[in-house]
Amino acid sequence: DLQPLKRALLSVSDKDGLIDLGRALDARGVELLSTGGTARALRDAGLTVKDVSEVTGFPEMMDGRVKTLHPKVHGGLLALRDDAAHVAAMDEHGIGPIDLLVVNLYPFEETVAKGADYDTCIENIDIGGPAMIRAASKNHAFVSVVTDVEDYDALLAELDAQDGQTTYAFRQRLAQIAYARTAAYDTAVSTWMAQALDLDTPRRRSFAGTLKQSLRYGENPHQAAAFYTDGSARPGVATARQWQGKELSYNNINDTDAAFELVAEFDPAETAACAIIKHANPCGVARGGSLIDAYRAAFDCDRTSAFGGIVAFNRELDEETAREITGIFTEVVIAPGATDAAREVFAAKKNLRLLTTDGLPDVLAGGHTVRQVAGGLLVQDKDAGFVGIDDLKVVTKKAPTEDQMRDLLFAWKVAKHVKSNAIVYVKDQATVGVGAGQMSRVDSALIAAKKAERMAEALGLDAPLTQGSAVASDAFFPFPDGLLEAAAAGATCVIQPGGSMRDNEVIAAADEAGLAMVFTGMRHFRH
Ligand code: 5GP
Repeated sequence: DLQPLKRALLSVSDKDGLIDLGRALDARGVELLSTGGTARALRDAGLTVKDVSEVTGFPEMMDGRVKTLHPKVHGGLLALRDDAAHVAAMDEHGIGPIDLLVVNLYPFEETVAKGADYDTCIENIDIGGPAMIRAASKNHAFVSVVTDVEDYDALLAELDAQDGQTTYAFRQRLAQIAYARTAAYDTAVSTWMAQALDLDTPRRRSFAGTLKQSLRYGENPHQAAAFYTDGSARPGVATARQWQGKELSYNNINDTDAAFELVAEFDPAETAACAIIKHANPCGVARGGSLIDAYRAAFDCDRTSAFGGIVAFNRELDEETAREITGIFTEVVIAPGATDAAREVFAAKKNLRLLTTDGLPDVLAGGHTVRQVAGGLLVQDKDAGFVGIDDLKVVTKKAPTEDQMRDLLFAWKVAKHVKSNAIVYVKDQATVGVGAGQMSRVDSALIAAKKAERMAEALGLDAPLTQGSAVASDAFFPFPDGLLEAAAAGATCVIQPGGSMRDNEVIAAADEAGLAMVFTGMRHFRH
């Protein structure tokens, strides 16, 4: 199983750690082959290196598009050392075996992330690198392949432990990592092309990501976990800058994403907005004249649940709001920015994680969501559905007033981000009751109303804030019962998709209860 390491080919774009690795290999008597820039860097450090062009008898050409694509390289990587015919072919054609391949690829993903133009991105697609990686990986019976700077130390440790050799199991593991890298690389190219050419459809796609960070654990401590990025530069949790606090956990990332995507529904040019999230559902969302007003109103929807929550804002976080947030235990705060003064306030709260994003995502932009089921991936267009005032159809005798209409549209935006069945009560541009994730719509209506009652008690109000509220339902009411539950809680107007077989019954019940109701013609299931 042990394979000695006599000859190595190094060809790396990321030159980090290269010199140390080159020295360590050289010290073990390994012969070094290398491509242009890599060879230069090694030579500058005083190492003896043979140019690949000397091995192939061809210069590197066509702007580096052709450097290592040659039988003297690929034969050396692919030849089976224990096959007489392969060995004879090597002899006949003067091909020397290559025992170790160290390659990291042209920085395609980074080039895209920098916003480079089409031709520059194309030029940063590595061809020879992946070809060599795939060849060396296939031949892992004999060849070790390292594709990540992070693995240099592991390689050297293996050589130390095995007297300058590598074990079969070690080479298998390296090959597995290498194929993950080339697959992710081609996926990044395909994903970028789909976006660049506007061919963005859930069909004919490949899925992969680049490891961003290993996580301490997953949803539960007994589950290992990691965070992968898809290479897009979209403002959000994957691209945010973390200023302070412990590393984000799996649940933090999931909840922070939910919070930020929700608050991005509200145009910062128009209004300040805040969303507080627990377990991926909002427990308070509000608009306000200022961030602190929005935060307070969101907090008052469900103060109990807001404890240990994730808070998102649509505008730069200011000092006053930061101070208010530190009043209760908060896991994560995410905003497009934060003033120096706001950051200073948070500095005293070491555990609070602060993320800034340099902007909000465009919630109406395309994209996909992917979720896993046993044995497969479910892919769909992102829910970028939008309903404006002109899309609404009044179906009851009463039409909503202007204020009611504003609250209905607000409730509708929030309902899109609540797990189904979703019922959202809103008053004065703030949620006052959220019923999420119930198996029946009636229960969601009931639970949200119940929570509003409890909040009224806590706040010392005479009546729950659902009195005179607007209510949104993410999908149609199949029977009048859910709607009647909302009316009993004090809702005076309703927004829902419509489209039930029993719409007539539901409309009649609304009329009888004196409600104004509008249909959106679009639903927002979220499971
Ligand atoms: P260097 O800095 O040594 O000049 O270039 C190193 C980079 O070239 C590595 O990222 C490696 O993957 C890439 N590379 C090696 N051989 C070829 C080739 O034949 N064609 C292309 N396009 N890239 C190659």
